[in-house]
Amino acid sequence: MFKKILIANRGEIALRIQRACRELGVKAVMVYSEADREAKYIKLADESVCIGPAPSALSYLNMPAIIAAAEVTDAEAIHPGYGFLSENADFAERVERSGFKFIGPSPESIRIMGDKVSAKQAMIKAGVPCVPGSEGALPDDPIIIKRTAKAIGYPVIIKAAGGGGGRGMRVVHTEAALIHAVQTTKAEAGAAFGNPAVYMEKYLQNPRHVEIQIMADQHKNAVWLGERDCSMQRRHQKVIEEAPAPGIPRKLIEKIGDRCVAAVKKISYRGAGTFEFLYEDGEFYFIEMNTRVQVEHPVTEWVTGVDIVKTQIQVAAGEKLPFTQRQVEIKGHAIECRINAEDPYKFVPSPGRVTTWHMPGGPGVRVDSHIYANYFVPPNYDSMIGKIIVHGDTREQALARMRTALAETAVEGINTNIALHRELMVDPKFMDGGTNIHYLEEWLSKRQR
Ligand code: ADP
Repeated sequence: MFKKILIANRGEIALRIQRACRELGVKAVMVYSEADREAKYIKLADESVCIGPAPSALSYLNMPAIIAAAEVTDAEAIHPGYGFLSENADFAERVERSGFKFIGPSPESIRIMGDKVSAKQAMIKAGVPCVPGSEGALPDDPIIIKRTAKAIGYPVIIKAAGGGGGRGMRVVHTEAALIHAVQTTKAEAGAAFGNPAVYMEKYLQNPRHVEIQIMADQHKNAVWLGERDCSMQRRHQKVIEEAPAPGIPRKLIEKIGDRCVAAVKKISYRGAGTFEFLYEDGEFYFIEMNTRVQVEHPVTEWVTGVDIVKTQIQVAAGEKLPFTQRQVEIKGHAIECRINAEDPYKFVPSPGRVTTWHMPGGPGVRVDSHIYANYFVPPNYDSMIGKIIVHGDTREQALARMRTALAETAVEGINTNIALHRELMVDPKFMDGGTNIHYLEEWLSKRQR
């Protein structure tokens, strides 16, 4: 096992990784920007290094500064968390070239999966079902683009090969709007992701977002850890996640889980990863793979009893997976609500000083957050400031526990979306389970203030 790990991230996930290090008896080096200097998890760290000013481009995305921090502190490995440099193949490569272990897959795996076009091609080859779409990136020729859309059938969705975070996508309903949409998406993708390549997919009308968590070691062992339903989304961004996915026959899930494991073995993947699928009319369609720990990993941890972050560190250290597929059993139901510092009605970010921070507790409640009373939420980063996760023997019990947890929660000084979660937890359709990816947006458009 490593003696010391550097955590190249901030906020709740930095604290989550720090906790895993503590449990493993590994020292954790935290890096921070000037905006995060006062954060408690920095003060509580074994060691910490300032890597630059508040803007992420100068700090959490600053590769030389992070690698230099690992050098001066004698860390052996770097955990990238999620976001920032976690899916940057060049960073993974630089980390390894500088003599550190990157806690994640190989740079090659990140590169293939980071380009959604090559990821889809790899998955088709590995026998994973994909959304019907263009063969690879779209060419410039408008005639071919129109022909492709016609063959797929409208509506189609134009997606950036290098896209992420719900950005770089455009739905097209008619041929008249097609070419303009392709050109605009291309231009945006070039500017936002440094890669103008776009591809086309059938736009599924009422799918659910269901993803499979996998975990693999360097010794050819791979398992899947059940699924998560992340259909409750706003602007293609997840708001509530749960495990297992309500109402999908186990046989179907098991089939797709086994496919994912076979694919992981085929591409010699190591570490944690997520296969994201759209699920419609009993069929799964692969959309992308995330080569890192996910925000929503706690729901899987709770229903499987597997510590995903700890396991990531163990397999990066060369250890064998500490469990086999047969030992993975799904128990009960877990739900996660993402707590964002934002207006619960208009969704504008709400950074600033937190004056009250009262978090829930009791049976089946977990809170992952780095926030405390008097903490200042900096305006420079993502608005997610924590997660409330509950577990119950049944989905009904988990929902009841989430309602109690949200009722106990009190945050003052900044706006949060807690009010939104309270409303959703008593929404009859959500309570029934199995809402599709458009449900939350439709619900929001009908919502009365
Ligand atoms: P990102 O990497 O930005 O998260 P994804 O490819 O994972 O992009 O897609 C994010 C979300 O966009 C999905 O969860 C789904 O809501 C929607 N989406 C993506 N592709 C399609 C499609 N072919 N049909 C319908 N919705 C889609």
